[in-house]
Amino acid sequence: MKFNESDVLQSLPKQFFADLVKKVSAKIATGADVINLGQGNPDQPTPDFIVEAMQKATADPANHKYSQFRGDPKLRQAAADFYKREYGVDLDPDKEVAILGGSKIGLVELPFAILDPGDTMILPDPGYPDYLSGVALAKVKMEKIKLNKENGFLPDYASLDPEVVKKAKLIYLNYPNNPTGAVASPDFFARTVKFARDNNIAVCQDFAYGAIGFDGKKPISFLQTPGAKEVGIEMYTFSKTYNMAGWRVGFAVGNADMIKAINLIQDHLFVSIFPAIQKAAIAALNSDQSSVRKLVALYEKRRNQFFAAARKIGWEPYPSGGSFYAWMPVPKGYTSQSFSDLLLDKAAVAVAPGNGFGSAGEGFVRIGLLIDEPRFTEACQRIAKLNLF
Ligand code: PLP
Repeated sequence: MKFNESDVLQSLPKQFFADLVKKVSAKIATGADVINLGQGNPDQPTPDFIVEAMQKATADPANHKYSQFRGDPKLRQAAADFYKREYGVDLDPDKEVAILGGSKIGLVELPFAILDPGDTMILPDPGYPDYLSGVALAKVKMEKIKLNKENGFLPDYASLDPEVVKKAKLIYLNYPNNPTGAVASPDFFARTVKFARDNNIAVCQDFAYGAIGFDGKKPISFLQTPGAKEVGIEMYTFSKTYNMAGWRVGFAVGNADMIKAINLIQDHLFVSIFPAIQKAAIAALNSDQSSVRKLVALYEKRRNQFFAAARKIGWEPYPSGGSFYAWMPVPKGYTSQSFSDLLLDKAAVAVAPGNGFGSAGEGFVRIGLLIDEPRFTEACQRIAKLNLF
């Protein structure tokens, strides 16, 4: 028998970066010493105290059973305590926190949880490509809001067609931003609350890089904005803050109706996550956060070193305030794709072409600072030899 994928599955977007992975693997197979700056996978290990908490919890048979459907109440409490301590935000752990198996699942399932087929949602361009999967699975319509250098890679709500604003029911934001490294200001979040309230649009702020802010400036949470909880939620992940990308744990916080919808869909799709992972996650949130400060210092050092190396060859970065990415312009005469292909081909340096994040990403490439300094300085030296700048 032959089985076909459903129409919905066939409508899923093509994984743009699968092509990049293929090209990099093919280059490595030729024996080239590829410096891979194309990825977004944290390179540092999970802090020991979290691994130890997991080891202890794994040995306890109480953690071998099904988790409670909506996760360990102690983890929800730890998330609420964390938001209070870090951001001064009050959360009801039962009504305003949902445990997620990583934030990707929350971001993908949210449109399905709160929209109906044919509804409209707004996504940032450039933006994290996995948002598109949620659009396809929920069969909703998508409109893009352009982020550009002139607006500091923050959406200008006035740029939206009024007809789109009238129809839209949900908007996604992501600060600190992947791929640009831009950070949000309190003013911008205040404008967002007003825009959402005035137009009845729910907000989902993806805070994946929330821990990673530079120059002594801690990224602000959307929920710190007066009125934010009335209009939206924030997605938080352990993947970047604690180098726990493979563990698959995160949470959504904020608006009780949106959290309830997420919990409801998850009741039908999952039985929460492995209880031992939840115990380790509690240890992470309740810790003194010194591991996070150390990690941020490392990323800031790498950013400074990379920016210095790039400027030395005449390659001027967009000034990143957070995340572990550098958003770099493409030299004249190239597109994001042709420049990325050239770097891989002639310098054995892999970067992510900006158009993979949306059409507004054209003209840029994204560099992940997830290797140690000698390698990205070497990458810049190899690129210098191409005499492009
Ligand atoms: N949001 C953004 C902007 C990301 O870059 C990522 C991962 O790279 C995620 C969400 C997903 O993170 P996770 O599913 O590991 O929590």
